[in-house]
Amino acid sequence: MGNLGQKIADALQPKDTRPTHEWASDGNVELFPPVTRTGIFDTSGSRHFIPILDALDDERTREVNILKPLRSGGSLIGDIHLCSVMARNPGGYLNVFQTEPEAKNYFFDRIEKTLQGCSQVAIHLPYKYEWSELRLNTGATIYTGGPALSNLQSKGVRYLRLDECWMYPAGRIVEAEGRVGDYLKMEMSKILRISQAGPYEHRTLDECEWYRAYTRGTMHEWEVQCEHCQKYFEPVFSGQREDGSFWGVTWEHFKKQNGDWDLAKCCATVRFECPHCGNPLLDCPKTKSEWNRTGRYKILGENNRRRVSFHFECVIDYPWADLVELWLDASNAYHRGDIKPKIQFYQKRRAIFKDESSLLRTGLHLSRVPYEINKDWPEEQSRFATFDRQAEDLYWWTVRAWGLEKSRRLGFGRCFGEGDIKDVATKYKVTPNHVGIDSGFLPKGDRGVYAMCCRNGWMAMKGDKGYEYAHRLNDGRLIRKSYAPLSWGDPEIGTKGEGRRYSPLVIYSKSQMNQIVQSLIDSKRWEEPIEGENKDVEEEYQAQMSSRRKVENFDERTGQKKSYWKESQNDHARDLANEQVLFAILSNLISDPVIERLSKKEEQAVESK
Ligand SMILES: [Zn+2]
Repeated sequence: MGNLGQKIADALQPKDTRPTHEWASDGNVELFPPVTRTGIFDTSGSRHFIPILDALDDERTREVNILKPLRSGGSLIGDIHLCSVMARNPGGYLNVFQTEPEAKNYFFDRIEKTLQGCSQVAIHLPYKYEWSELRLNTGATIYTGGPALSNLQSKGVRYLRLDECWMYPAGRIVEAEGRVGDYLKMEMSKILRISQAGPYEHRTLDECEWYRAYTRGTMHEWEVQCEHCQKYFEPVFSGQREDGSFWGVTWEHFKKQNGDWDLAKCCATVRFECPHCGNPLLDCPKTKSEWNRTGRYKILGENNRRRVSFHFECVIDYPWADLVELWLDASNAYHRGDIKPKIQFYQKRRAIFKDESSLLRTGLHLSRVPYEINKDWPEEQSRFATFDRQAEDLYWWTVRAWGLEKSRRLGFGRCFGEGDIKDVATKYKVTPNHVGIDSGFLPKGDRGVYAMCCRNGWMAMKGDKGYEYAHRLNDGRLIRKSYAPLSWGDPEIGTKGEGRRYSPLVIYSKSQMNQIVQSLIDSKRWEEPIEGENKDVEEEYQAQMSSRRKVENFDERTGQKKSYWKESQNDHARDLANEQVLFAILSNLISDPVIERLSKKEEQAVESK
């Protein structure tokens, strides 16, 4: 009966409509270990929580997303929201965690303790209950569980919290959201997603439902004021100014003999550089408390209150030297071919969505230069068109103009069939003997690469595993080059017509050409136009160019460095680039990396069959 009395007393109380952060910090929610900051909940040291709690209070808002670094208090926001609505706006509440055992742990570690620490809810807790289904005496039920279908397909709820939803099995976020459907129609539902960035292992960004949900919301980025110049900036680990220079957490560059970062030396020099005035900020309580005091969210794009997304990085509350150590360690691993630590750094520490291809794309800096493709380039010596055959008669192609040891892209794209190849060559004024076709795929037969080359006077080219190839001089001496002596591709090999006609075929060292392309890129002699193809084609080009990279292994025992090129499915632009370089070597615009320097006389003596 005490309960009934309480209910009457509650009903007579005027409804407390204060914002959740005020209500909770007014002694209404007390926190216990394992929460780090125990005692009465308080947002004064983490002001970036306040607008998030306000969004959860906002009746116009149906979805709130928190994209946050590991252990940054994001889950606490969910717990406070749970208490606030259970005390003041009760309704069915479903908490979903990454797995069933973690849901159970979290319930006893955090949810139960927080509910008990909130007197307005604690009085409604029944004497006995199941952790997975807690029915309060107000009639509202709190469900807790992992993302199993059986948990997500039962009764409707008004509130839904999806914790660490970056790792749910495919389709489960949507499945869970179905449960607020009835309340959504009445505009009373609330979905709260709290998670680090994705995608989960073996998924791409396109397959990441959390990424989709986050980007649908109006994005809010936390920004703070510089104590030197008073201008605002985002407190992020690293940013880039328009001129390409970096700002954010900075350190002096010290490397070891094997090329690895020297962690201890670098970490001793860490500071934060303002993007505007370039002045350093030191990692001390004063900097971080000033950042907290002046911080505010910057809204990106149109402000729609229906779905809102919040993002902040761990630079605001994590020791910078430790972050630099993690980053440099990840960079050392990257150098050896292990890209996972870098992806994890982005996803967990910076809370930035990152998959393998988006990581590689940001890792390659192509030099963009303002030049007009149709204007004459005085340095031009020659131009070449290279084509790479795919299935269904589809070709990737690129045309580049070459000066001495330097090249500019004139075009890149896809085309279909022999007729299109001719059109590309005509459009860019490339002579037939400067058209190269990769003969790695479908070389033979009437419609094969060899036959096409025969018909049109083009050259067949093929990458090979070797490093160097012997060429015999007329005097019998052998010299080495990065490509094999000219051979001949027979389109009718193995048929009756065998031996009737041949196309010129050059086999080259993939590894050598990869290396030359990379060093041209690194030394800014591989130029790309600022005004290139349309946006989609440029993105495709960037993706393909960055999908092949050099990996280095250092053997501690022998002190030897071994490197190799890691290829991927979609790196055709790299093969095209290799064949451009091959043409440039054949035309003496680039020196062969293998050949010993020859005198003019010796050069003429090189056998050409
Ligand atoms: Zn400044």
